[in-house]
Amino acid sequence: MMVIMTNEHSEEEMNAILRRLDEIGLKGHPIVGVERTVIAVVGSIYPELSDELETMDGVESTVRISTPYKLASRQTKPESTVVKVGGVEIGSGKTVMIAGPCAVESEEQILATARAVKEAGGHLMRGGAFKPRTSPYSFRGLGEEGLKLLALAREETGLAFATEVMSVREVEVVAKYADILQIGARNAQNFMLLEEVGRTGKPVLLKRGLASTIDDWLLASEYILNTGNPNVILCERGIRTFETATRNTLDINAIPLVKQLSHLPLIADPSHGTGKWSLVKPVGLASIVAGADGLIVEVHPSPDHALSDGAQSLNFQRFRELMEQMRVIGETVGRPLLPAATEPVRT
Ligand code: PEP
Ligand code: MN
Repeated sequence: MMVIMTNEHSEEEMNAILRRLDEIGLKGHPIVGVERTVIAVVGSIYPELSDELETMDGVESTVRISTPYKLASRQTKPESTVVKVGGVEIGSGKTVMIAGPCAVESEEQILATARAVKEAGGHLMRGGAFKPRTSPYSFRGLGEEGLKLLALAREETGLAFATEVMSVREVEVVAKYADILQIGARNAQNFMLLEEVGRTGKPVLLKRGLASTIDDWLLASEYILNTGNPNVILCERGIRTFETATRNTLDINAIPLVKQLSHLPLIADPSHGTGKWSLVKPVGLASIVAGADGLIVEVHPSPDHALSDGAQSLNFQRFRELMEQMRVIGETVGRPLLPAATEPVRT
């Protein structure tokens, strides 16, 4: 951190700051210039320090040099993190596809979808059993029954799965079945929940909050990493903007920027990012070009009958088309699609 002194500061004010830094275990190095005097602060700086120093006499402002998030930062760990889920590596430089319905609705629906995802070359499944719905009267998921159906689909196809955990109360049951614990956009800053999923040690898929800045999002990941769990996968799923023509605005800027700022793997969710199935392919491909390590997309056997998010769900044919184009685009940008698991689908 740099402390920028006012032009009129006195020697005594400067010494008071150096003493204060010393008291809290930090080291201040004054740099006296012709026009300006600044103090370079070295040590483990906490977020409130700027406010504390800015209230002191003689201080004009403070500037942070390092990021507020430590464990998630590439400054701390320059090499990219690879998260392993079953035999699938996320963040390895190969493009990974996670696909499945918004919500698990029935055995038939999840098995048919899992087979279609597998046959098209998908690597992991998704499906909600505990669903965050805007209205309490909408379909809110099958709960533990949905988790059992996902486990059945995994047994049949060999595809591991991600599913959302909405509250601290459900962490134990979701962790019993799931391979990846998903934190939804609405819970992206539920700090107690972030710590609780962190403590399971399982991979965590952390969606960006509806109105989270990139700093908010990376600080949320810090709660999970700080429990000693390094297996965090970030997910850009669009943010709320003034635009109403689409459900959310997928922040394409965030993809290369977060890859620069953090070593964590990052995937994009063009289904929630757009809200329209016809935009999923172009925005998904753009996300791969922008540097995403993979996609998570909603796929349903019959989107017009889906109990949630049908409008943004791909049918099987459209999912196959997306996979074919991802294969081409992935090769072109040097992040080819991860080879599909070789064992045949058991039917
Ligand atoms: C979902 O993945 O189905 C979901 C609810 O996503 P989000 O939390 O990003 O809205
Ligand atoms: Mn959904």
